[in-house]
Amino acid sequence: MERKVQKCKQCGRIIYFDGICVSCRAENERNKILAWSQDQIDAAVQKICDEIAVSGKLDRERQLFTNLVNYRDADTTEIARTAFEKQLFYPGELYKDAPDDVVQSMIGMLQQDDVDSMLANHLLLCLAIHGGETVFRAFAELEQHPRKWREKLHVDPSVYATYGGWSYDSSGSIFKTNFDKCYPMIKGTLDEKAHSPVKIGARTNEKCPHCGCTMVNLMEFDGRDSRLDFLGIKGVIKAKCCPDCVMWSEDNFCRYTIDGESEVVFEKEPYNTENYMREENIAELDSNSYILGDAPVPPRYAADWEGGSSVGGVAFWIQDCVIKCCPDCGKPMKYLAQIQWDTVLSGMEGNAYIELCRDCQVMAVLHQQT
Ligand SMILES: [Zn+2]
Ligand SMILES: [Zn+2]
Ligand SMILES: [Zn+2]
Repeated sequence: MERKVQKCKQCGRIIYFDGICVSCRAENERNKILAWSQDQIDAAVQKICDEIAVSGKLDRERQLFTNLVNYRDADTTEIARTAFEKQLFYPGELYKDAPDDVVQSMIGMLQQDDVDSMLANHLLLCLAIHGGETVFRAFAELEQHPRKWREKLHVDPSVYATYGGWSYDSSGSIFKTNFDKCYPMIKGTLDEKAHSPVKIGARTNEKCPHCGCTMVNLMEFDGRDSRLDFLGIKGVIKAKCCPDCVMWSEDNFCRYTIDGESEVVFEKEPYNTENYMREENIAELDSNSYILGDAPVPPRYAADWEGGSSVGGVAFWIQDCVIKCCPDCGKPMKYLAQIQWDTVLSGMEGNAYIELCRDCQVMAVLHQQT
C-alpha cells in the first residue's frame, strides 16, 4: 500500500499519517512539563511511585519518568526507595538521587560473588548514575578485586561509571567525563545564527581524502561567550570531520587550535570509502538555523529520542556510552556535544557526538544509530 504524503499540522514537515510529527509531539510534551508547578511535579512523582509499588514495574509511566528527570531534573529519592523495595533496577536514572542507605545496600549486593551478572550489570548502571565518593570507592575496590559476576560482563566498573559522567584511572584518581552544565541548541534565524557562539554543520573548502566528500565543521564553539565559560576554552574551536566517513569509522579525530584552526587526523581508512553524501546534503546541513539557547537546562535535557542537539550535559547514547581515549595522551576524553542528525539533515538517522581532550587539543566525532 502506498503511504499518503501529508504535512505535519504543526510544523509542516512531510509525514505519512494524519496528525503531527514525532518531533512536534515531543516538543509539546516538553513544553507542558516545563510549565508544571512543583505541586504538579510532586503529583507526577507520586504517580510513578504508585505504579512501581503496585506492579513492581515502570511501564505505563516510563515516559513520564524520563521526561520529569530530563526536563525538570526531578528529585528521585522517593522513587529510588520504592524501586529498591521492589528490586527494580532499570532504568538506572531511578537511582539518580537514591538515599545513602539504598546506595549502601546496592553496593552490598555487588560485593557478593553470587549475584546474577545481569542484575550486577543493572546495579552498576544505577550506581554509576548516582555517582559520588561512596560509589567511586566501591567501584574501585570491585575493579581491583573482581567478584564472580564480573566474568560474564564485558567491561570494568570504571567503564560503567561513564554512564554517570565520571570515571577513574588505575592510580585511583577520579575525573569527570562530561560537563554538568547543559545548553540546548534551539531553532533561530540565519541572522541569529551569525551571532550564535555555537553553530552546527558549517561547510569547509576541504575534501575528504578517503571519499571525496566536502568536509564540515560539525560544530563550532566560541568559548569566549559567557554561556560557555564552563568549557574553559578561551577561543574558537571547530570539530572538523568528513560527514560521510564518520558513519563508517570509529576513529574520527581532529586537532584544533583555539584560533579556530582544525586539522582532521586520518589514522585508519574507514571500512567504506564510497561517498553517500551529495553536495545538496552538505548545503542543507550548512543552511540550518540552530543557535545556542539563552539559558542552561538540566543535564539530561537532550537525553532521549527527539532530544535534539545540545552542548554539555548528558548525551543520549543510542547504543552504548562511548568515551574515546585521546589518541595523544591515551586518557579518556570528555563528552562535549550531541547533534540529532535529522534536525539538520533530512533522511539521516541517529546522533553525532563530539568529545574533547583539552590538554592535547584533540576532538573526536562519533556516530550512532539504531
Ligand atoms: Zn511537526
Ligand atoms: Zn570521507
Ligand atoms: Zn589528550
